[in-house]
Amino acid sequence: MLSTILIANRGEIAIRIIRACRLLNFKTVAIFSDIDSTSLHIKMADEAFCLGSGDVQDTYLNIEKIIEIALKSQSDAIHPGYGFLSESAIFAEEVEKNGLIFVGPSPSILHRLGNKIEAKKMAKEAGILTVPGSSGYINSVSEAEQITNKIGYPIIIKAAYGGGGRGMEIVENPDALEISLMGCQTIASKFFGSSEVFIEKYIHAPRHVEIQFLADNFGNVIHIGDRECSIQRSYQKIIEEAPSFISARRRNSLGEKICNLAKKLSYRNAGTAEFLWKDRKLYFNEINPRIQVEHPVTEMITGIDLVVQQLRVANNEELSYSQKDIKFSGHALEFRINAEDPLKAFYPQTGKILSLNIPGGNDVRFDTFIYPNYNLPNQYDSLIGKLIIRGENREDAIQKSRLALNELAISGLTTNISLHKAIIETEEFQHRQITTDFLERTKINQILNHYEKLKLVALLIANTIHKQKQDYDISNIQRSREDYNRWREQNKLEQQNGYR
Ligand code: ADP
Ligand code: ADP
Ligand code: MG
Repeated sequence: MLSTILIANRGEIAIRIIRACRLLNFKTVAIFSDIDSTSLHIKMADEAFCLGSGDVQDTYLNIEKIIEIALKSQSDAIHPGYGFLSESAIFAEEVEKNGLIFVGPSPSILHRLGNKIEAKKMAKEAGILTVPGSSGYINSVSEAEQITNKIGYPIIIKAAYGGGGRGMEIVENPDALEISLMGCQTIASKFFGSSEVFIEKYIHAPRHVEIQFLADNFGNVIHIGDRECSIQRSYQKIIEEAPSFISARRRNSLGEKICNLAKKLSYRNAGTAEFLWKDRKLYFNEINPRIQVEHPVTEMITGIDLVVQQLRVANNEELSYSQKDIKFSGHALEFRINAEDPLKAFYPQTGKILSLNIPGGNDVRFDTFIYPNYNLPNQYDSLIGKLIIRGENREDAIQKSRLALNELAISGLTTNISLHKAIIETEEFQHRQITTDFLERTKINQILNHYEKLKLVALLIANTIHKQKQDYDISNIQRSREDYNRWREQNKLEQQNGYR
């Protein structure tokens, strides 16, 4: 039986996990780096321990220190959230070696799925369509040439252990093959600790579709619907929605295949299978063996608390739902609110939050860790919040999003809220013409620039009107006050003179 959970993360996801722990009456232990000492997750947890200073290697990625804190605080389990150590087989192994529970799949599963080539192989064996490409690592230019001769250009070279949208090189023609291969290998070894890369066909402007699944320790596996995540920048999602635009039949048949694969692997806890959709075909891409940033859109249309389910599974409980219990209601959208300036090449912003207005209302959720006077450090992810909206259908969700995005106000630093406002007003977004090249295709930057100019003009006009109105109002008030005084004087005079 679990009683204390250490949350090996920061930001909005740390808070999200603390809330789920509280629902289950688990005690929570937070960890934080020096620069995070004013973070909200510290205040929300029952206990908090400092990881010291230094870069992420010394803090949120410092396995030894985290395990030490877990033991010291008598934690029974560690929830890794997303990013950081969430997909580290070495971390999960250390956690288990120290008699603690890792809230996620087993180390051997993390090890196998961490390698994208391996994951693709497993999917193929399970009868799932994968993107055409090399069946293993590419070690030489001649090997790369052989594959490209077979599948044709353009291709994409990917780091086998890549993640976070990094370690991918698109190659348009043979001239760029050698240099791109070397470049990708260098990035792969620098960021992912292994120079292993592979090749696949570059699919032009696909859709990103993914399936959420959950598994317990008793062989029960269920799929919990799909998500559409094609609005991306630099391979990173910025708007996600649920459900995606595939038919219920496909959702179920794909979900079933993924569940069978998960069963075969003795997979446990939450996972997401990612696919690329093009010309009515869905190609398997990878499996993320963790909770994902966009999990709330699934929660909004199913009513299932995915993090609570993760914790229950870690507590060796059976899943609270069977496949037939999974029902969908409505449509949900998630907007990743990033501290970055869309008009300045998405440059990350840092600084003090001066004021914050969080939208509310039915089916409006805002997951964040910022608060007024909070100083946002620049060392971490630019994600400062997630606005999640549910509607009866997609149109309703868009209309509610429009209102909520207008209500949401963060001052002190620039965010991408204006980008979201511009995106939802495009015809393409409203008509579901969503593909991974959305931002370029819709020339959203030009629209934004235009909006900014309009806003400036509107601001000038509003200021003038406001000023005129003020002048008018003041003179009005003054006039009425004068009238009143005159009336009072008159009244007094009349009373004195005995007229009343
Ligand atoms: P999701 O599908 O949940 O959005 P992402 O792949 O975008 O997953 O990763 C989730 C978070 O973790 C993002 O904030 C991303 O920047 C970060 N992340 C993921 N993998 C890595 C990695 N290997 N190195 C650094 N950050 C990562
Ligand atoms: P990560 O592990 O960094 O999340 P993914 O393999 O999931 O990397 O890819 C992230 C994004 O990159 C996808 O959502 C898609 O937009 C793009 N991408 C990946 N593979 C391909 C491909 N073969 N063709 C076209 N786009 C791709
Ligand atoms: Mg991915």
